[in-house]
Amino acid sequence: MAKFRERSAFDTSAANGYTLLPARFTRLAGDQYVATNMAGEYLLLPRPTLQAYVNGSLSAQDPAYDELKSRHFLMDADSDVAVDLLALKVRTKLAPLANFTGLHIFVTTLRCEHSCPYCQVSRANDNRTEFDMSEATALKSLDLVFSSPSPTIKIEFQGGESLLNLPLLRFIVAEAKRRNQVAQRNLAFVIATNLAVLTDEALAICQEHDILISTSLDGPADLHDKNRPRPGNDSHARAVEGIRRARTALGHDRVGALMTTTAASLPRVREIIDEYIGLGFGGIFLRPLSPYGFAIKTKSYQSYNQTRWLDFYFEGLDYIIELGLGGFEFIESYAAMILKKMLTPHQTSYVDLVSPAGIAIGAIVYNYDGTVYASDESRMLAEMGDRSFALGNVHENSFAEIMLSEALLEPLEQSFADSAPGCSWCAFEPYCGADPVFHHATQGDPVGKKPLSAFCNRNMAVFRGLITRMEADPRVRVLFERWANLV
Ligand code: SF4
Repeated sequence: MAKFRERSAFDTSAANGYTLLPARFTRLAGDQYVATNMAGEYLLLPRPTLQAYVNGSLSAQDPAYDELKSRHFLMDADSDVAVDLLALKVRTKLAPLANFTGLHIFVTTLRCEHSCPYCQVSRANDNRTEFDMSEATALKSLDLVFSSPSPTIKIEFQGGESLLNLPLLRFIVAEAKRRNQVAQRNLAFVIATNLAVLTDEALAICQEHDILISTSLDGPADLHDKNRPRPGNDSHARAVEGIRRARTALGHDRVGALMTTTAASLPRVREIIDEYIGLGFGGIFLRPLSPYGFAIKTKSYQSYNQTRWLDFYFEGLDYIIELGLGGFEFIESYAAMILKKMLTPHQTSYVDLVSPAGIAIGAIVYNYDGTVYASDESRMLAEMGDRSFALGNVHENSFAEIMLSEALLEPLEQSFADSAPGCSWCAFEPYCGADPVFHHATQGDPVGKKPLSAFCNRNMAVFRGLITRMEADPRVRVLFERWANLV
C-alpha cells in the first residue's frame, strides 16, 4: 500500500482556481482558528471557512478569499507576484542571520557582594580575585569579538558584579574602541550591574564612553531585598539611588532595569509594575525564572509552576493594557517583542525568540577563565557540571573553530523550529524560538518533547493570549501596534 497520496491530491489549483501557499493553523477557541503564513502574518478564520480554504473549495466571493490572497495564504491567476512577495517577506525576516553574533558578553569577574538564593551563576566572595578575567584573556576575547561579521557589536559586562573589576572593564572598553578605529563597527557597551557598588569613577567611565547601564529591580523594597540579600540588607535602596545617580550622569534613557521573578513575586505583579512606573521606567519585562544553574540547585525553580507564572503574566499584561487604554505609555517587553514578529515585517533579536536559536550566533559569552559559552545559560549549566555548550577557549580556538564546532552546529540544526518535531506544524512557529539549551537542561536533548516543554507551553499561551486580546478589542490592536514598533 502506498504510504503517501499522489502529489496531485494536494494540488487544488486546477479545480478551484487557486493554489495554497504554505500555511499552518490551530484552533484558538470555539470554532475560531488562527492560520499563519511563512512570513508570520496571521488570520482568524471560522472552521467552515478554513475547511473550504484548505479543501480548495473557497469561493472567490467569500469575504475571506481576498484577505487570504492579500496575505499570501493562496494565489490565483491574478496574483502572479504572490510567491515573490512572500519570499521577500521571509527574506526580510531572516536577513539578520547573515550578520551573526552581535552581542558579546564578558564575564569580567565572578565576585559579587550579593548572595541571591536564586543566583544562576556561581558567585565568589568579593576578595577572591582569582575569579577575575585577566587582561590576556580579555585581549584574546576581543580577537574573537572583532572576527564576527556583525556590523553592530555590543559588548556587555556581566558578573558576578561587573563593577567589582572596574580596571579590566576600562581596559576592554579602551582596547575595543582602539580596534574599532580600523574595524568601523557600530560599537556599543552595556554594564549589567546591581548598582550597589556604583562609584563616581564608574560613572565617569560610562559618561566618557557612552555606556548603557542595565540594572536589576525586582519590585518594591521588601520583595527586592528578600530576593537580593547583601550586607546591610539595603540592595533596593542602593539600586534606586544608583538609578538616580546614573540617570543624572548619563541621561534618563541610558539606564534600563530587568526583574527576576520568584515565587514571592507571583501575587504582587501590580505592585512590581507600579514600582517601575514610580521610578520612571517606560516598560517592564515580566520574566519567568529560568531553570538553570543555582536556580535549580536551590529548588527555587520548582517552587512555582508554569500556570502560576502565566496567571502572574496575564494579570500584569492586562494591568498594563488598562493603563495604555487610559493614555499612559508603558510597555511589557516580552509581549512587545512577540508583537513585533506578529505585526511587522521584522524580527526581534531577543535570543529566546529566534530560530535558528540565538546561541552563539545571537549572543556569545566569554567567561573569566577564557571558556567560550554558547549563551549565559550554557555557562550556568557548566557551573553545574554540564559542559555540553562550552564551545572552546579564547586561548586555544579561533572564531571559525568555535562557530563551526559540533557543540554548536549540532544543537542549532536539530532545534531549528521549522523542521523540529512539534514546531514544524505549529501555527505559532513564526513567532516562537528554538531554545536547545533549555530543552537540554530540562529534558536532556536539544529538541525536547514540546507537549512537556515549559518553554513551549508558556510561549503558546502568550501567543494565544496576545491574539485573543487584540482580536477582541480594536483599541488593544492599536496599542499593540505601537508596542510592536517601539522595540
Ligand atoms: S515551541 Fe511550542 S509554541 Fe513554539 S513553535 Fe514549537 S510547538 Fe509551537
